[in-house]
Amino acid sequence: MSISFDRIVIVGGGTAGWMAAAALATGLRGRSTVEVVESEEIGIVGVGEATFPSIRNYNRMVGIDEAEFLRATNGTYKLGIQFCDWRVKGEHYFHTFGDFGQLGGPYALWGQYRRLAGAAPGAFGEQCLPTVMAMQGRFVAADDKAPYNYAYHFDASLYAGFLRDLALKRGARRTEGRIVEVNRRPDGGVRSVKLADGRELAADLFIDCSGFGSLLLGKTLDEPFVDFSRWLPVDRAWACPCERTASELTPYTRSTALEGGWAWRIPLRNRTGHGHVFSTRYIDEERAREQLMQQLDGAPLAEPRLLRFTTGHRARFWVHNVVAIGLSSGFLEPLESTSIFLIQSGISRLMTLLTAGQPLDEQSVTHFNTGAVSQFARIRDFIVLHYCLTARRDSALWRDMAAMELPETLAFKIEAWRRFGVLHMYDEEGFDATSWLAIHAGMGHWPERADPVLQELPLDEALQALTGRRDAVAAAVARLPAHHTYLDQVLG
Ligand code: FAD
Repeated sequence: MSISFDRIVIVGGGTAGWMAAAALATGLRGRSTVEVVESEEIGIVGVGEATFPSIRNYNRMVGIDEAEFLRATNGTYKLGIQFCDWRVKGEHYFHTFGDFGQLGGPYALWGQYRRLAGAAPGAFGEQCLPTVMAMQGRFVAADDKAPYNYAYHFDASLYAGFLRDLALKRGARRTEGRIVEVNRRPDGGVRSVKLADGRELAADLFIDCSGFGSLLLGKTLDEPFVDFSRWLPVDRAWACPCERTASELTPYTRSTALEGGWAWRIPLRNRTGHGHVFSTRYIDEERAREQLMQQLDGAPLAEPRLLRFTTGHRARFWVHNVVAIGLSSGFLEPLESTSIFLIQSGISRLMTLLTAGQPLDEQSVTHFNTGAVSQFARIRDFIVLHYCLTARRDSALWRDMAAMELPETLAFKIEAWRRFGVLHMYDEEGFDATSWLAIHAGMGHWPERADPVLQELPLDEALQALTGRRDAVAAAVARLPAHHTYLDQVLG
C-alpha cells in the first residue's frame, strides 16, 4: 500500500480542521493542495478555552505572533490549574507547568519535604515558582531558559477563525457546504465527498476533523470506538459564559469538584467561561445545570449549552487514506485541557511522515496509530489519577471513583510511587514526572516509606535548602507584575 498526498481534503473547520490546515499549508507549501470543507449550518463545538503549553510550539511553528494571537482571541495567560475540593471539600492545590526541584537522590525536594514532615517550611506548592505566581495572580512570560512554562486561555471560536485567515493566506482553500455522501474506493478508502449542492471533492488523503460525528473514520469506515467511560464516566457538559466581574485576571483555570462531576472557570479578557462536566450516571441534567449557575462569577451572557460525549477513542486513528484528528478521533474529558494538545500531536505526527521524503506505507500508518493510541491511554491514566486518589465519600461518584478498578498501567504507576517513591514514566506520556508529582502531592498521596538515600543530607541542611528555595521563590514573585498589568503591556 502506498498513499499519496498531492490532494488533501480536510473535512471540518473547527479548531482541529484549521489547526491542521494552517500547519499543512505552512509545512507542505507547494507540494500538496489543502482544501477545508466546513458547514456553517452544522457549526463547531466552540468550547476548548484552556490549553496546554505545547500550543506555544504550534503557534511558533506556524509563525503566529503572541500579542496578535492574544488580541484576536481575547486570550489570557495560563500557568496551570487550581483544583478545589478534589481530595476533600475545602482543600485546594495547583498543577502548574513548573518544577519542584530535583526528583530523585538525596536532594529530591519532595523527599526532603516529606522527611521534615511538620517542620517543613510552608506548603509544598510554595516550592514551585509558577504555583506561587498563580496564587498571587502575577505573571511574566517565560523564555526557554525559565524554570516554568505557560499556556493560554482563549475563545476557541475566535482561534479557529484566526487560523482560518492564516491558512487561507498560506494557500489553503475553503469550501462551504454540508457533506451528504461519502464515496468509497475499491480498496475501502475514501474517493470523494459530495456536498448538498451536488459538488464533489476528491482527494488522495482525507483528514477527518468532523467533530464528534466522526463522519469519515467513524460513520463511513466504521472504525470501532474504544470506550473509556468505566474510568472516565463523565458524559455531558453545560457550558455558559458570564460577565467578567473583576479587574484582576487569574492566570490559571479553576476546576472545582462537585457532586456528580466538576466545574471549570476560565478567565478571558472579555468574559469568564464556566462549565460543568458531569456524569448522568450520578446527576441529572437539570440538577447539573442548577449547580453550574451557582458557580458563575457574574451575570450569564448566554443560555447554558449542553454538550454530549463519550470518553474514549477510535481503535485506529488512520485507516486507508483517512486520518482522524480532533474530536472525530476521540475525546478525553477536558479536565487537563488536553484536546487541543492531542490535535497538535496528531498534526505533528502526520507532518513528520508527510515531510520525511519517504512514501507513506502500511508501516507509517501503523506507527502513527500505535503512538496515538498510547498517548490517549497515558493521558487517560493521568486524568484518572485526579479522581481515584480522592478522600471524598459524600456522593456516589466519589465513592465509585475511589473504589474503581484502575487501568493496569495506572495501577502500576500508583504502586511504584506509593511503595518506592518512583515516578514511573512510559513512552508517549503527555505529562512529565513533575506533573504526576503535583497531583500526588496535591492529593496528599505520598510514598509509604522514605528512601534511605534521603538520610545522606543532614536534616538541618534539608531545612535550610527548602527554606531558602521557598524564600527565593517568594522574593522573585514579589517583583512580578499582576497578570492583567502584564497582559495590558503585551497587548499595547
Ligand atoms: P468541531 O469543533 O465540532 O468541528 C467539526 C467541524 O466539522 C465543523 O466545522 C463542522 O461544520 C464540520 N462538519 C461536521 N460534519 C460535517 C458535514 N457533514 N459536512 C461539512 N462539515 C461538517 N479542548 C481543550 O483543549 N481545552 C479545553 O478546555 C476544552 N474544553 C472542552 C470542553 C467540553 C465540554 C468539550 C466537549 C470539549 C472541550 N475541548 C477542550 C475539546 C475541544 O473543544 C475540541 O478538541 C476542539 O474544539 C476541536 O474540535 P473539532 O475541530 O475536532 O470539532
